Amino acid sequence: MDETEHTSQADDSGDSGEETDGPHVTDDGVDDPPPDPSNRAVEANGSDADKAPTSDHDAGVVDGQASVADQGVDATQQSEAGVGTDGSSTAAEGPTADEAATPDPDVDADTDVNVGSGGRDRSSPDVDLDGVVLDDDDSQGLFDDLLSGEPIFENKEVLRPSYTPHELPHRNDQINRMATILVSALRGETPSNILIYGKTGTGKTASAKFVSQELESTSQKYDVPCEVEYINCEVTDTQYRVLAQLANTFIEKNQQVIADRLDDHRALRSDAADDSDALAATEFATLDELDARIEQLEADAAEMEEVPMTGWPTDRVYSTFFEAVDYHERVVVIMLDEIDKLVEKSGDDTLYNLSRMNSELTRSRISIMGISNDLKFTDFLDPRVKSSLGEEEIVFPPYDANQLRDILQHRADIAFKHEALTDDVIPLCAAFAAQEHGDARRALDLLRTAGELAERSQAEIVAEKHVRQAQDKIELDRVVEVVRTLPTQSKIVLFAVILLEKNGVHNINTGEVFNIYKRLCEEIDADVLTQRRVTDLISELDMLGIVNAVVVSKGRYGRTKEMGLSVPVEETEAVLLSDSRLGDIENAQPFVQARFDN
Ligand code: ADP
Ligand code: MG
Repeated sequence: MDETEHTSQADDSGDSGEETDGPHVTDDGVDDPPPDPSNRAVEANGSDADKAPTSDHDAGVVDGQASVADQGVDATQQSEAGVGTDGSSTAAEGPTADEAATPDPDVDADTDVNVGSGGRDRSSPDVDLDGVVLDDDDSQGLFDDLLSGEPIFENKEVLRPSYTPHELPHRNDQINRMATILVSALRGETPSNILIYGKTGTGKTASAKFVSQELESTSQKYDVPCEVEYINCEVTDTQYRVLAQLANTFIEKNQQVIADRLDDHRALRSDAADDSDALAATEFATLDELDARIEQLEADAAEMEEVPMTGWPTDRVYSTFFEAVDYHERVVVIMLDEIDKLVEKSGDDTLYNLSRMNSELTRSRISIMGISNDLKFTDFLDPRVKSSLGEEEIVFPPYDANQLRDILQHRADIAFKHEALTDDVIPLCAAFAAQEHGDARRALDLLRTAGELAERSQAEIVAEKHVRQAQDKIELDRVVEVVRTLPTQSKIVLFAVILLEKNGVHNINTGEVFNIYKRLCEEIDADVLTQRRVTDLISELDMLGIVNAVVVSKGRYGRTKEMGLSVPVEETEAVLLSDSRLGDIENAQPFVQARFDN
């Protein structure tokens, strides 16, 4: 796309030097704000309420700070249903789509990884445990075996999503395009708004953060007032929260600016009290002028009121943000990561309001950089928002297997001990992840999990089988997470499918599912949806890869869907029954029996 002309508002009265304190994570423990008074709410998605969450493990992660979501995932992985780490995988050839989709049936969700029964005697450690003193009298050896293996990892953190790589191979083009557009900010001009698209794990967040760090450090170097605000809209997912977070960030920065100026002015004040020439080279002609300025600054500081995380009318939050950002000259780039989640949840009001601000701001300018995983998300936008937000568009294509190898190799060099991987480990991780729409996050997850599994089974080296086990484990974790977070109605539908499948029904059709579904609903006092809605829910389960449904024609009787489960029955059922409502279903067998009796 062409370089766009930017409206100039260059005015270099340097008010820079204030600290930007990097990405912010909002506390998401706060209550939802009251309903948005604005009536522009756009229904972003017809089936909003039933919309299932994504399976993106690490979507809530803000670089450098493991978010709640990330910790949640980690916790599951540690207390995780142990995958048979002792060679249960038998697959020998390269990954196939089938393998990728079907977790190993041998995987046992209930047993723990058995670190002790590997058959190797580790009682006399041959490694130097620098500084670790094992007191034989007191300890019962719980950790001895675990500690005694040669560590495989040099620095495991490097494989986590929270790590920001210093190099991003295969993203030069995208990074350069961003820089070319954003450089205007360093000239005091307003950069075009940018929309970045790409599937998960294509390096959007990592690239955007890299560019924003460069932008901010360059702005400090040249003393130009340019700031980047990063917001993860998966966490900060309502207009109120986005505006409140922005307002509070700028209020905090303004307070700092004011405090610095007050320091200077008060110092000048005391100099001037002794020596009337002290004001000579300053903007103040008289002591009274200086005093007035000090008073003004003190009043400004007192006036700036932080926005509470809930409770104010949205227009008050908006105007507070407006005042705060416009307090002095600056160009602000607002990065809205996972912007599709914001629009899906709260409509496009936020974007509409933000994109109109420049026409009213007097000192500052803002530019929006939206990052979306959903390529079609602009379809839901008001046309005005769409054209303003999409002034520049940058696409992040999926990585192919070779590119993923490069990415993994860069990280593995730092993350693992020398020669801790067999030659086929990285290519296999890359191949699996390339099937998964070229997802670098998945590739890194696989590599890390494979290393962890190897470590837990006390292998000396990570081998192909660990990668296959890791693939199974991650797939199972994904299924568990997706099923766990399904809306209740979808869970009931899925439970109906499971009951049928467990009773040996093949090619289950919609009518059969609906009958069982109805009985289950009655049993637990849930609303009964129409068969049409249930058919829609089945389609959603299909899209999530939980069931596999095909439409079959029944001649003049019309068409129906036939389906089967694409996930392991036992584990899935266990997850469903852990839901307090479904857990109430004591004995489901009669429902299915009734179906056969009909
Ligand atoms: P997205 O935001 O597109 O979902 P991320 O930027 O979060 O993807 O990338 C996912 C993971 O892959 C992160 O750990 C990131 O550091 C890593 N990653 C992505 N692209 C690259 C790359 N080109 N080089 C190195 N690491 C990368
Ligand atoms: Mg991202």
